[in-house]
Amino acid sequence: MSASKTNGHGRAPLSASSLFFTPLPPAHVVTPGKESHGRYMLTVPWNRVSGWGQPRIGPRQDLSFDPLAGVLQYAVTCFEGMKCYKTDQGDLRLFRPSKNFDRLKRSGARLGLPCDWDNDELLELFAKLMALEAPLVPNTDGSNLYIRPTLLETSEGFGIKEDAFAAEALLYVVTTLNLGKGLYASSEGEGKGIKLDACKEFIRAWPGGTGSYKLGANYGTVNISKKPGYAMSLWLHGKEDFISEAGAMNVFIIKEAADGYTEFITMSLSNGIVLPGITRESIIELLNEHAEGKREFPIQGVPKNIRVVERDLSMPEIINGLEDGTLKGMFGCGTGVVVVQVGEIQYQGKTYQIPSNPLIKTLRDTITGIQRGKIDEGKSWSFKVPAWNPEGADGQSDEEVTAA
Ligand SMILES: *Cc1c(COP(=O)(O)O)cnc(C)c1O
Repeated sequence: MSASKTNGHGRAPLSASSLFFTPLPPAHVVTPGKESHGRYMLTVPWNRVSGWGQPRIGPRQDLSFDPLAGVLQYAVTCFEGMKCYKTDQGDLRLFRPSKNFDRLKRSGARLGLPCDWDNDELLELFAKLMALEAPLVPNTDGSNLYIRPTLLETSEGFGIKEDAFAAEALLYVVTTLNLGKGLYASSEGEGKGIKLDACKEFIRAWPGGTGSYKLGANYGTVNISKKPGYAMSLWLHGKEDFISEAGAMNVFIIKEAADGYTEFITMSLSNGIVLPGITRESIIELLNEHAEGKREFPIQGVPKNIRVVERDLSMPEIINGLEDGTLKGMFGCGTGVVVVQVGEIQYQGKTYQIPSNPLIKTLRDTITGIQRGKIDEGKSWSFKVPAWNPEGADGQSDEEVTAA
């Protein structure tokens, strides 16, 4: 399905210049229990005939839909997870935002939702939403503004439709503070790291399914598998017990190869059961450039003789690697945790301790350094959010202001 199929008939494109801004009411009070959320939200409605409607940024509020809306009946919804960080200089940074926008388009296309916006227009709207919340974001290590763009079907997704496309949809963006900060602190070192429960009972993804798309349905249906005491499920697939991912993270193992190289092994994306993580992709890119000696700044502390291998990786391989001592560490990565050491796996009634590896912290420091603008990887991965301070942004004014 191509983007042009849902566009090109005089439908309005998504346009940041028509933004309508509503400041917080003068006596803005935070709803109890929602203190950790951003105060504003961005909404952009979409209609199959008229295209994208007026983008609005205003106080965060409840949404309402017809009880037969596609999102409510058949989970026609997809999302993204992004983080905004504050640098020591006080400016806000987004990490490779167009990668997330492209992935949201891909998820939307899988569901018959619109996927034809210009990423630069969306980024401009995004940046304004971030800028409004800037005063709330701390600049301490691990702190962040987590961003949740969501795209869903608001029209009736019910009955027999002529084709798979939604008649009406909504793109909205809300934020929350410091997601993942707790896990982030679980840190690295001997006896540390998160505990995973290797799950054979519930299967997260399978070939031909939707595992490689960030669809709401992928998460709601496997929530119940997480056992108390474990940070996440380790998702297995196939009779070989291949490891696809853990929770909502991609997984790497660090292994000593027969030729003495240090290998970073992760499940390949080719069979469509692994979510193509942007943290995963960034780590692979940095490690490959390091290995090829391309980088002007090699990753400090990473040996020269390394390689990245994308292939199937099974639980029996992990166990063998523990027995013969070639398994040198394991970590998960994703926007939520950045990079986190795996300390223990529970599998078929046994508990396996995974050795720690200082390379995990090195990788985490490298990625967070880039995200916070402390390390320049030379590829403009860190986007600096321009300041935006419309009248009434902090609830001082009761007038509605249109911002161009
Ligand atoms: C979001 C997600 C990831 C991580 O992707 P990032 O782009 O690195 O945040 C990995 N696995 C699953 C299942 C996810 O939903």
